Amino acid sequence: MTQKEQEIAIAKALSPDLKLCPIHHSYSCCNRKSLNYTSDLNAMMEPCKLLASKGWRCEANMETDGTWECFFTKPDTNITSGRADATHYGAGDTLALALAEAFLKTLGLWK
Ligand SMILES: [Zn+2]
Repeated sequence: MTQKEQEIAIAKALSPDLKLCPIHHSYSCCNRKSLNYTSDLNAMMEPCKLLASKGWRCEANMETDGTWECFFTKPDTNITSGRADATHYGAGDTLALALAEAFLKTLGLWK
């Protein structure tokens, strides 16, 4: 998925009634929120809260090479889902990007 595709998929997961603007053909114009989940850790908190409300707990660990390992687990169960493939994330990439991938994988929205 491109980052833009990820942003739209996350926005739709948060607001299922999100509509494409008929004038600008965008999901992030006019009265819509800017879509910056993959680049802004603060923005990623809202998707993380959605998963938390469903019982998922976020696990994020920085590896010694600076990449992020990121996934969600359900405490008290063996269920682990949405593991971001840490090899996708070099030292220059952000935790927000890894969280976005893990979020979408946990909800089965990753393509
Ligand atoms: Zn618009």
